[in-house]
Amino acid sequence: MAFDLNKLLRPHIAQLKPYSSARDEYTGKEGVFLDANENPFGSITSGSYNRYPDPYQHALKEKISTIKQVPAEQIFIGNGSDEAIDLLMRAFCRPGKDNIIILPPTYGMYEVSADINDITINRVNLSEDFQLRPNAILEAVNENTKIIFICSPNNPSGNKAKRQDIFKIIEGFDGLVVVDEAYIDFSDEPSFTNELSNYPNLLVMQTFSKAWGLAALRLGMAFASVEIIKILNKIKPPYNISGLTQETVLEALDDTSKMQRMVNDILEERDYLLGALTKMEGVQRIHPTHANFLLVEVSAAKEAYDYLIGNRVIVRDRSKVILCDQCLRISVGTREENDRLIQALSHFLTVNAN
Ligand SMILES: *Cc1c(COP(=O)(O)O)cnc(C)c1O
Repeated sequence: MAFDLNKLLRPHIAQLKPYSSARDEYTGKEGVFLDANENPFGSITSGSYNRYPDPYQHALKEKISTIKQVPAEQIFIGNGSDEAIDLLMRAFCRPGKDNIIILPPTYGMYEVSADINDITINRVNLSEDFQLRPNAILEAVNENTKIIFICSPNNPSGNKAKRQDIFKIIEGFDGLVVVDEAYIDFSDEPSFTNELSNYPNLLVMQTFSKAWGLAALRLGMAFASVEIIKILNKIKPPYNISGLTQETVLEALDDTSKMQRMVNDILEERDYLLGALTKMEGVQRIHPTHANFLLVEVSAAKEAYDYLIGNRVIVRDRSKVILCDQCLRISVGTREENDRLIQALSHFLTVNAN
């Protein structure tokens, strides 16, 4: 197996002359800035946002580098992980020709992004217990397969993939393997970022949307070889991360202990929820989780979902999703929120059973 990034890349992207922003050409901080048509008098807001932000988020990457133990030049920051997913498709997959492999049931954005970009989707379902089927996955690869998306811990099932299966796929595939670790902070699993130096065809995604509690800011990370990161930087919108977001997160990263406390609280609440659901009549099955949600099989998922909505408790109905028959996906909430869910769901399931 030989991974050739230049062969994987769409030819016109290799040739592309990227947009050169004013802030690319002169990177000094001091000076009279008359190069970007900005407003010299300030902003309409009380905070100052009149200057374009750092297109490559250097300060933020340095801090993320320290926390994640990945060199800054191997980090890409996107406007949510969703931006990274889309850029990967556009960099490597020729519309109408190339394909990606996804492993249902899994995160919906891989499919949506492929559809938007007119990229064929090959599906290799997970096993009944939501594990990877590495042989079937590698057999599904053809000459136009460019990316395999693995989500671990997986959304919506919550379980983590077996490490040796992931390695088998990375080692057996000439294209790019994306390991989406959006939920890694809730798991006891080491990150695949530790494996980047061994595998030039590996890209790991993480996000600030879950454990860090910053979903509204839209901030996703991709970790990969310097060469892959350069490609993403080349094709991204120049100022994809706002100055407000860069500043806010830079400051917040000084105190990562708060993140750890919130994760601990979520894990405690996850146990609480698990305990209550285990005892509940009408709950058929709770799938093992390494994430901040539970996939729960109940006696009548659609009706339970509607009843919960009527009580203004909103969960995710996954019952139409493959291998998730009669399943609700329930995010772990605060104690009060979990109690609301427990009370409403147990009421519905008891009445439904009788
Ligand atoms: C929530 C989630 C993300 C995060 O996406 P953002 O765009 O960074 O908010 C990524 N992957 C999976 C599997 C998710 O569930």
